[in-house]
Amino acid sequence: MKKSGQKIARVDEKPVLELRGISKSFGQMNVVDDVSLDVWPGEFVSLLGPSGCGKTTTLRMIAGFIAPDEGRVILGGKDITEVPSYRRDVGMLFQSYALFPHMTVRGNVGFGPRMRRETSSVIADKVRWALSLVKLEGYEDRRPNELSGGQQQRVAIARVLAGGASMLLLDEAFSNLDAKLRGRMQEEVRELQLRLGIATVLVTHDQEEALAMSDRIVIMNGGKVEQIGTPKRVYSSPSSLFVADFMGRCNRIEGTLHHDDRAKAWYLDCGPSGKIKLETIPHPAAREGEQCQVFARPEHLSLTQSAKDHEGDGLRGRIERLVYLGSRSVAYVTLEGDVPFQVQLPNKPGLSDEFSVDGPVVVVPLPGAVTPLPK
Ligand code: ATP
Repeated sequence: MKKSGQKIARVDEKPVLELRGISKSFGQMNVVDDVSLDVWPGEFVSLLGPSGCGKTTTLRMIAGFIAPDEGRVILGGKDITEVPSYRRDVGMLFQSYALFPHMTVRGNVGFGPRMRRETSSVIADKVRWALSLVKLEGYEDRRPNELSGGQQQRVAIARVLAGGASMLLLDEAFSNLDAKLRGRMQEEVRELQLRLGIATVLVTHDQEEALAMSDRIVIMNGGKVEQIGTPKRVYSSPSSLFVADFMGRCNRIEGTLHHDDRAKAWYLDCGPSGKIKLETIPHPAAREGEQCQVFARPEHLSLTQSAKDHEGDGLRGRIERLVYLGSRSVAYVTLEGDVPFQVQLPNKPGLSDEFSVDGPVVVVPLPGAVTPLPK
């Protein structure tokens, strides 16, 4: 998928959207708690988190369907907190598409400009332009029930685009589609979004969707923002255990910090299983003997066959289970000291089965794989 990479704000650029400390409670429940976020021109931002973490409520406060109890919503430099939803310059794409069933594709796509009483030639131009963007020319006279799921979603996108909004809001927009079509629509929407340069906020609970589509991801938990960062940053440098666990498979181990003065390096002494080198110090004031927890992704680890008395860098253990998954295998290892670890092994052609169940192994992290977790 074509991507713009990290969005870097120019000095003279202003955010399209600013959320300033917005909060919302339903009864006793604090659903969104002091959320602040800037979305920059052309940027694609995903709100990601488990069910009930408050992401849809946040999106609905941007759209104006729900009023925040506290905080401000600023769009294009204007405070729109009190502005009703139909006067906000945002286009929202719902999971259910929300097309008008009795209207044709033309009628659906031209709905916004018609409501604004634009001239019929302007409406026709906007409908033609929007349908060409989503590659649905020739479908103008069909009704929604005469279209596939993917085509209905394209019509919904065209309707938002013809409405001329300065910002796009997508509410779990791909979750109704089967896996293959979902991937295709994600690519199409991202390419269209990049081409039009329209700032977009997507709500999703799907980590891969957020990683594949976004310039930045906002990870939410219990109504609060846990971390905001590029896909690479939130995946490889999570700011909390929650983010590390939520973003993917995650091995964790605790140990004692040890500084090797001769090697000028920090190590984590993990007791019976061995020690691993740390390339990042847990914090600037780290000291000898301090307890520390680290994490490493299964795909950032390698395995070697071991002699029982392995002395070098790495964690000794035994393979409990090997699962073949086509392009890769996963080795479920129990480290000495009874710590479970997963290691992903790429399956390359021509390689014989190198490892076997019950075999003694050493788990060796690839450079940069081990990340200290904040306490
Ligand atoms: P999901 O992925 O399941 O949609 P979400 O992160 O989008 O979850 P929200 O829809 O924002 O979560 O809901 C957050 C919490 O607020 C949930 O516990 C939900 O039940 C509650 N909630 C949402 N809307 C209302 C409402 N109108 N009245 C009362 N409670 C609500």
